[in-house]
Amino acid sequence: MSNSICRCTRPIHPMRIEFGFDTCIDCADELNIAPPKGRMVYIDKCAPTIEIMSAETWNENKDRFMPKGPRSAVKNFSKNISS
Ligand SMILES: [Zn+2]
Repeated sequence: MSNSICRCTRPIHPMRIEFGFDTCIDCADELNIAPPKGRMVYIDKCAPTIEIMSAETWNENKDRFMPKGPRSAVKNFSKNISS
């Protein structure tokens, strides 16, 4: 697994090998694999964490991650109880 030459005979960047990739950056672009996505998870107000997920998972769940409507929590709350 310490092969540092890509199948296209170009050298692979050592940092890519360290992260487990076996292709050079040019071949990675050709494979056209969507890069992973992440979101901030606020477990408490001091220490948010980043959750990494595949682009597929992101697309399935992005409606839940992206804020919609007014940015005021009070407005959202009053809108929900009055409907
Ligand atoms: Zn390559």
